[in-house]
Amino acid sequence: MFEFTPLKHAVRGSLMRCSGCGECCHETEMELSNRDVKRLVCAGYRPEDFIVVCDGVPRLKNVNGWCYFYSLADKRCRVYKIRPLGCRLYPVVYVDGKGVVLDDLCPMRHTVSDVEFKRKAKILMRLLEEIYGGRLFRC
Ligand code: SF4
Repeated sequence: MFEFTPLKHAVRGSLMRCSGCGECCHETEMELSNRDVKRLVCAGYRPEDFIVVCDGVPRLKNVNGWCYFYSLADKRCRVYKIRPLGCRLYPVVYVDGKGVVLDDLCPMRHTVSDVEFKRKAKILMRLLEEIYGGRLFRC
């Protein structure tokens, strides 16, 4: 099982305009921190239902190509208020060889201001360090 460690930074009020297209919830590879897992388990979800572990890193599980928590019928996240921190930071993502960037897949990425990008990038690096330890930053 995972250890639950606190992450001091929290994301407050995203300024970007999300169109709710659900693109970021399709074939998700979103990593989960211990705090994300704890929050979702405390809300009543079973880890085996929503987590898939890849190379020792817990990630959101997909069901029929969509995140376990995405409701296709309603076209919305069923755990929006307690969604993983990585989902809150999206479309700010980390790409190997590029670093922190805005995900090309997000059609509303142009609505992320420089201030929001910098704030989220800082939190994202802390989150990834918490999840991967030194492994992410070796090369
Ligand atoms: S947890 Fe919610 S916001 Fe995050 S990928 Fe799943 S459905 Fe989308």
